[in-house]
Amino acid sequence: MPRVSIDGSLATCQPGDTVLTAARRAGIDIPTLCHDPRLAPAGACRVCVVHIDGSDRPAAACTTPAVDGMAVHTATDELLELRKTLLAMLVRDYPVSAVDAAPESPFHRLLAEYGIRPTGTVNPDLVDTSQPTIRVDLNQCVKCWRCVRICEEVQGQFTWRITGRGDAARVIPDSGDTLATSSCVSCGACVDTCPTGALTDAAVSASVTDWTRTTCPYCGVGCQMLVGTRDGNIVEVKPDLDASVNRGHLCVKGRYGHGFVRSPERVSTPMVRDDTGNWMPVCWDEAISTALNGFRQVIDLHGHQAVGVLGSARATNEENYLTGKFARVVLGTNNVDCCARVCHAPSAAGLKMAFGTGAATNSFDDIEVARTILVCGSNTTEAHPVVGARIKQARMRGANLVVIDPRRIELADHADVHLRPRPGTNVAVLNSVAAAILDEGFLDEAFAAQRVDNLGEYRQFITTFAPELMQPITGLAPEDVRKAARLYAGKKPSMIFHGLGVTEHVQGTDAVVCLANLALLTGNVGRPGTGVNPLRGQNNVQGSAHMGCQPDSLPGMIPLAAGRARAESVWGAPVPDTPGLDAMEMLDAAAAERLRALWVIGWDLLQTQPHTAEVEQALEALDVLVVQDLFLTETARRFATVFLPVASSFEKEGTFMNSERRVQRVRPVVPPPSGVKTDTDILCLAAAAAGFGDRFAYRGAGAVWDEIRSLWPAGAGITYSRLDNPNGLQWPCPREDHPGTTLLHIDEFPGIGRRASLRCIAFHPSTEQPSAPYPLILVTGRELYAFNAGTMTNRSQTAALTDGCVLDVSPADAADLGIVTGRAVRVRSRYGQVVLPCRVSESVEPGVVFCTFSDPAVLVNAVTGPGRDPHTHTPEYKVTAVRVERTD
Ligand code: SF4
Repeated sequence: MPRVSIDGSLATCQPGDTVLTAARRAGIDIPTLCHDPRLAPAGACRVCVVHIDGSDRPAAACTTPAVDGMAVHTATDELLELRKTLLAMLVRDYPVSAVDAAPESPFHRLLAEYGIRPTGTVNPDLVDTSQPTIRVDLNQCVKCWRCVRICEEVQGQFTWRITGRGDAARVIPDSGDTLATSSCVSCGACVDTCPTGALTDAAVSASVTDWTRTTCPYCGVGCQMLVGTRDGNIVEVKPDLDASVNRGHLCVKGRYGHGFVRSPERVSTPMVRDDTGNWMPVCWDEAISTALNGFRQVIDLHGHQAVGVLGSARATNEENYLTGKFARVVLGTNNVDCCARVCHAPSAAGLKMAFGTGAATNSFDDIEVARTILVCGSNTTEAHPVVGARIKQARMRGANLVVIDPRRIELADHADVHLRPRPGTNVAVLNSVAAAILDEGFLDEAFAAQRVDNLGEYRQFITTFAPELMQPITGLAPEDVRKAARLYAGKKPSMIFHGLGVTEHVQGTDAVVCLANLALLTGNVGRPGTGVNPLRGQNNVQGSAHMGCQPDSLPGMIPLAAGRARAESVWGAPVPDTPGLDAMEMLDAAAAERLRALWVIGWDLLQTQPHTAEVEQALEALDVLVVQDLFLTETARRFATVFLPVASSFEKEGTFMNSERRVQRVRPVVPPPSGVKTDTDILCLAAAAAGFGDRFAYRGAGAVWDEIRSLWPAGAGITYSRLDNPNGLQWPCPREDHPGTTLLHIDEFPGIGRRASLRCIAFHPSTEQPSAPYPLILVTGRELYAFNAGTMTNRSQTAALTDGCVLDVSPADAADLGIVTGRAVRVRSRYGQVVLPCRVSESVEPGVVFCTFSDPAVLVNAVTGPGRDPHTHTPEYKVTAVRVERTD
């Protein structure tokens, strides 16, 4: 190993090391200003100057390669004087009041160390407080340009610009005006890197006393964050620089979406509904016994099939495991499910069918390996922003990008090809890409010979999907489809990411299989930079299903019949042998008065399930509805009979599982509000009250996890102590000396063998077609600033950034309807109606309208319909025929 001498100490160098990185690894401090390990070295401020023997001038440590045998000096008198001069120049106009207000800031400490006291005053014109999340005070800008560089090199947003030259150079937002009017997406990366107080979190008013690493409570990317607290409150959130998932980055939700934790709307007392329909605060024992008595009566009268439990994607793996165990052991039913049912169940089913494992094949780190990235039905920069930012960076470094989405989403602006199909035609689109791959000679013959079956039948089948034949169905120009096919098949390795725009359709599972077919045809399986990778919506939706919150499978996604005996021996109780009802079936059964009691954890059914009128009917018909949540959600407020207030993920211990099969720790950073319990505590309390205390007695979340490992062979090697790092572990990880698995299917497909079959998937149009009474197609989805039902983001700083539920209408349709941005419109479908403001937007084509569903005051799902994927029953949120009317 090459070594350098730094101030007389020997430091070992690794390939690519600079003097600065070698010194830091050896624990030798060299002051820096413009340096950030997330950015390409700039060597601009020269504060990191060092002297190298044999050189006649000082060198910037951040840009000078470390060379074997080099002798470096970091603190000679000459260097100290030079740094002092540089710093003094940088802070010529720096306000002394800023130094006095924050003497402990690292930059201010550096000034003090070099005996520099600025004398500038605050120019109020350089302060911009227009943005709710980020405060700008350019009086404190030292022109290191880290904000400009991180916005470009990490987020890919290019919001910060440099204007002027020399002494007159300064940073400005791209609007040329305030930050609020700029393209800023509030990821906070500029705040995170700014070495002075020029860019700060607007809401941070106290200094942090403790930092705790945990996992973001929002999307399935699973970013690792450091949460700063003081006096039991969250003060600020920063990204973990060492986590491979997010590499020192967060999005607006991760960074600024924590205000809900101390929201005054948090409920801190269990409540039961009295005879007059009013809530009555009660003690925990009474709440639990009321819930259990209700369930017991229903079981006595109607049997175990009349009760059900729904787990939560926002609860930990341990809590979801206990939810499944509670349903089976305490309530004696397999009627247990989770919200994977309404989002990515088709990904699990489709990938299991195609490849034998119902989970992502590769890892986010492969984004930097892929030469082509195909993004299908995922508005990645808004729904999974940190992965979206990584894809943008890959594109800027030269990767090809194919986007398939009916809307002009942000990634489409960066794409080589944007296929903009008619909503509901994914199977026709993906089959036409496959047809183009085959008839243009892009089949990977060598891979097909070794790993692919059914090529003959598939080849014959797919000819009927030639892009030219599919154009009338998909609306896509054949040449665009062929270009997408050439890029995906010809510029390998190629990696597929997909989202709910694939799964939330009547052919959701089919479309996932079609994506798998593309990967098989082109040999894009089992290698870095390839595969089919569902971007899971909520932080732990992969985990909640995987932990046994499924009516037909036990922890580890082990089918009920195969895993029952083992589960019974570990749980010491019988497990019912017939598969239960899934969430959709439970609501159907409730409406038909066959299911009479439901226990719902962290899932606002009323706001998020399609066809609200049917959901209302189902919830109304229940005898008992227990809701366990942070807030009185719409479901709880209108229909619950018992409400149990729970701790948030910032207030408890456990693990989440992200989109890449990665298990990561969740750690308590603040105490829960007095009177609130964790989901684990509640489930164990209820189990004990029902007489199963001995089977629900755990010493902390780690003990629950160990029981999970005993039932889940592919997770057996994932111990809590092994998770005590920023990267967690990806399953399969069958032994404690196993490194985890970043890449699936290298040599074989589990349970299938070495060869996987191409499947011939016919296209079946949705019944939701435009017609005279309902001429438009409504697509629903997510946006950057609001998450899912808005339960958490609507009560955080993020609420100030969102426009709420707004209907995007194309300029042509808006002109036909005589509506303008901001005007209230009524959206009607066969199932209901809703009134909301509209926004004229080029993001949707004529004939398509779009909105989110995050505002409880606008129950958008009143208009979505009953269509379901036949394999998984996942609802067709993405295609509803509607009419838009003016409200005047
Ligand atoms: Fe959290 Fe997802 Fe944003 Fe990462 S990308 S900070 S996991 S919401």
